[in-house]
Amino acid sequence: MKDSDKMKNNQTYDVVITGGGIMGSATAYCLTKTQPGIKVAVVERDPAYARASTTLSMSNVRIQFSLKENIQISRYAFDVLERFEDEMAVEDRRPKIYFHREGNLFLVSAANQDAARRAFDLQRSLGCRIEWWSPQQIRERYPLYEPGADIVGATFGPDDGHFDAYAALMAYKAKAKSQGAEFRTGEVVKIRAAGGRATGVDLGADETLTAACVVNCGGAWAAQLAETAGVKLPVIPVKRQIFTLDTAVKPDGPLPLTVLLSGLYFRTETGGLILLGKSMEEDPVGFNFSWDDKRFMEVLWPELAEFVPAWDRLKLVRGWAGLYDVNTLDHNAIIGEWPEIEGLYLATGFSGHGLQQGPAVGRYLSELILKKPMSLDLSIFTPKRILENRPLSEAGIV
Ligand SMILES: Cc1cc2nc3c(=O)[nH]c(=O)nc-3n(C[C@H](O)[C@H](O)[C@H](O)COP(=O)(O)OP(=O)(O)OC[C@H]3O[C@@H](n4cnc5c(N)ncnc54)[C@H](O)[C@@H]3O)c2cc1C
Repeated sequence: MKDSDKMKNNQTYDVVITGGGIMGSATAYCLTKTQPGIKVAVVERDPAYARASTTLSMSNVRIQFSLKENIQISRYAFDVLERFEDEMAVEDRRPKIYFHREGNLFLVSAANQDAARRAFDLQRSLGCRIEWWSPQQIRERYPLYEPGADIVGATFGPDDGHFDAYAALMAYKAKAKSQGAEFRTGEVVKIRAAGGRATGVDLGADETLTAACVVNCGGAWAAQLAETAGVKLPVIPVKRQIFTLDTAVKPDGPLPLTVLLSGLYFRTETGGLILLGKSMEEDPVGFNFSWDDKRFMEVLWPELAEFVPAWDRLKLVRGWAGLYDVNTLDHNAIIGEWPEIEGLYLATGFSGHGLQQGPAVGRYLSELILKKPMSLDLSIFTPKRILENRPLSEAGIV
């Protein structure tokens, strides 16, 4: 290929974002909103989002965390989601994201009571609405539930809920595009860096996007991508499964996302259905998207029916698998500039709670990149802690 031909395949941007899931799209939106005219490209290889975690998630948002910054991130998400449909309107097209506030209910045992109480007190001290229920209150509020002798109570976050993740993603994308961001279909095969600085990305063998700022929003693939620039991240893809159930006995109204002591969780979905999942030790590491009805039949259904006896009759409608980008250092986000490569930013390691963090992370990254004052200081999630092997600790609810 002649040099002049090569030039045809090179384009220059201010910022190139790898991955157009919630992180990449929210970041593109915030950058183009904060600095009109900035040249931003988002590269996504799966434009139908068949494998993105964003579209395979439970779409839950909650303040029930025990790390202050995670609580603040979710409160920020509440604010954004409440005004989202107005803010994301493009001309006369107003997205609908169906933000439902049916709450989250975390069951408490004698063993985890102290940690739950500390998290509860912290959430309260930060101004969140959070309630401590007795087993009797659980039964009164949700008559289908049968808390066993091991349950001493529950925490209920009335503002927690869920929304349509795909609709929110499409809205971010449409608004970012209307503000000038370019969404490109393609695969980033290499993040380029020279002399300690990011210089762009390669899309296949003969196309380079040049940029002094590259943002790795590659989700469960982020560590693979980082490796192309010589960066090692403690982030692994772990398969998680969700099941859709049609129960013979329907609840009277919406059920909160209910988290049992074993970690099994479920909530109502539209169409009278129930969504259910559970993270398990044996969940495989790797890029595997198969789902398995045996797990539901043999393990999860008996656990569910013990807590909701009326659900000993139900139809398993379908299931799916998606990937958590698990940060094996401390199960928390890794957000910010990589200390050894100027201009290389990371947003990964969300370990199962990243969807709700998209709005705050997009905002934070855009402020870091554009050197603006911080709306919400998320520096605690700095990638520097990876190099220093300094995990964050979040006892109790993660
Ligand atoms: C089953 C399940 C349930 C979950 N439930 C919740 C929940 O209830 N609440 C919550 O907050 N979070 C939840 N999560 C976590 C949440 O979905 C993720 O943390 C979040 O969506 C991560 O967003 P992302 O943009 O980083 O990743 P993704 O949505 O995965 O987007 C990354 C994108 O990068 C693209 N990409 C990767 N490599 C390349 C490349 N080389 N070139 C081009 N494109 C590339 C991928 O195609 C992908 O579209 C859940 C996740 C799963 C799997």
